[in-house]
Amino acid sequence: MLPWTTYEAMHDAALNQPEPFWLEAAQRITWKQAPMTACRTRADGWHDWFPDATLNTCHNAVDRHVENGRGEQAALIWHSCATKERQVVTYRELQGRVAGFAGGLRSLGVGKGDRVLIAMPTMIETAIAMLACARIGAVHVVVFAGYAGPELARRIDDVAPKVIIMASCSFQGQTPIPSAPALNDALALAAYRPQACVIVQRAACQTSFMPLRDHDFHTLEQSAPAEPVTLRSEDPLYILHTSGTTGHPKGIVRDNGGHAVALALSMDLIYGCKPGDTFFTTSDLGWVVGHSYGVYAPLISGCTSVIVEGGASASAIRALCHEHDVKCLFTTPTQMRLMRQESRNLSGAILPTPARIFVAGEYADPTLLEWARSYFCKPVVNHWWQTETGWSITAHFFGLPERDPVPLMNDIGRPAPGFRPEIVPSIPGEQCGEIVLSLPLPPGCLAGVWKDGAIRVPAAYLDETNRYYRTFDEGMIEASRAVHMLGRSDDVIKVAGRRISGVQIEKIIAAHPAVHACAVVASPDELRGQRPVAYVVPNSGVKVIPSSEEMIGRVNQALGRWIGLKEVHFVRHLPTTVSGKITRKRLLVS
Ligand code: AMP
Repeated sequence: MLPWTTYEAMHDAALNQPEPFWLEAAQRITWKQAPMTACRTRADGWHDWFPDATLNTCHNAVDRHVENGRGEQAALIWHSCATKERQVVTYRELQGRVAGFAGGLRSLGVGKGDRVLIAMPTMIETAIAMLACARIGAVHVVVFAGYAGPELARRIDDVAPKVIIMASCSFQGQTPIPSAPALNDALALAAYRPQACVIVQRAACQTSFMPLRDHDFHTLEQSAPAEPVTLRSEDPLYILHTSGTTGHPKGIVRDNGGHAVALALSMDLIYGCKPGDTFFTTSDLGWVVGHSYGVYAPLISGCTSVIVEGGASASAIRALCHEHDVKCLFTTPTQMRLMRQESRNLSGAILPTPARIFVAGEYADPTLLEWARSYFCKPVVNHWWQTETGWSITAHFFGLPERDPVPLMNDIGRPAPGFRPEIVPSIPGEQCGEIVLSLPLPPGCLAGVWKDGAIRVPAAYLDETNRYYRTFDEGMIEASRAVHMLGRSDDVIKVAGRRISGVQIEKIIAAHPAVHACAVVASPDELRGQRPVAYVVPNSGVKVIPSSEEMIGRVNQALGRWIGLKEVHFVRHLPTTVSGKITRKRLLVS
């Protein structure tokens, strides 16, 4: 039972009495040596969480649940949308497989602090590899399975992994894409040489092993089991490269102790999940949501985690929710748009849906959230995240006894414990501006960025006073502490000196029933500096595509003619990052 009755009491306690707040939160974790201190300032001005404590994250995610009688409960349920395979792994089975594979990694010479690069699609073996690294204190670096040689080589050179783990293929839709060409290209391009590669052979596309270099994943799983090692709270658990939404990909480093505490608290407080509940994230394990809510948070909390390989259709998502009695579904606006599209062609009864649905990752227009709420008849909650923070900066809190106010269509919730957002207006007196977070950031956020074997916090993350972390997101904060998001600060368009976020224009266009998705970017304008240009993807199957004039008319009516929208392009797709977010920068008109 959480000790606070209201949101304000909880949030104020975390900001005003951080030591007792976080030491209490830390009781959700099984420590080797329990913390006496919550936060300590590092020599470089950044912060370490639980600096006097030791633990093992894998023990918290796996072994302790077997010890506490959850051995026969499903830990991971995997469904491949590509091959239609399914696998259910209990906590006891997971313990055996992780301990064995950890022993196998050891036999390849991997030890504490060594990096292991995992370039795998979402599979049970991906989670096993991550947890096995955590067990022996190695630092996992999961990268997108679909990267071509040069992208993979960049990451190999960045982290210098002792071992690379891959599957023999990943899938694009139902088509197997062999991994060997990208791996061989990457190894030819990279300056650094890993000692070994481990391969998961998949039936759809077997690869021939290179003698001395390659090892079979499932054979290594049969190795003598390795026990969890004791790690300091601030020892690195993993490095995860940002998707590029927040600039050039950076290797974000996450610690062990702060990460475990933040995720365990979030399962209680934000998602309202208890041990034994089922959590389903549609995110690839290679992204931060997949790390945090596909693997670590549900497992640390003794829940069952449903993970999927490939893009699940709306009907597949609903069937999985029904079959596994999912309590929380965590998905993205893009996935939600596809569900909306598919729902138009579905007939028959809607299967029961999860108790609550969460979206994050990119702007979700209010029309979409409204559709989801009425379609599923359940709360649909938007919350705000970055790879850097590892969990949500703002959210709604299903674990509090007081009913959190019904989420508004536009807000992204109120700050999670320990986050204190403030607005830096670019024009004095304006309510909107860049959202900055006052330091220290709460546990679970980045310990730093990996660069040349060291962990540093780049100056670009800090404001000039070194007291705030810069999110590079724009928004505003209400008196109720609810935060509204206007998009990335570099997506703001300046028309004749007046600022308008592309997202504000997108919101109007997206409300048109024939629109599937849209993006608005700035184009240079000789007279007024910049003007907006809209790219619109119509719904599939619409009989009459609306005219540009109709879209321009809507925007002018809602926001005023000063916006100067004159160009609306109807397109079939919008460019996205590999994680599926719209990349407005790639639409920029020069
Ligand atoms: P990434 O680190 O790749 O996960 O991207 C983080 C960025 O995604 C944030 O800085 C935001 O720009 C965007 N983002 C995340 N969640 C939301 C949300 N709920 N609404 C709007 N944008 C979001």
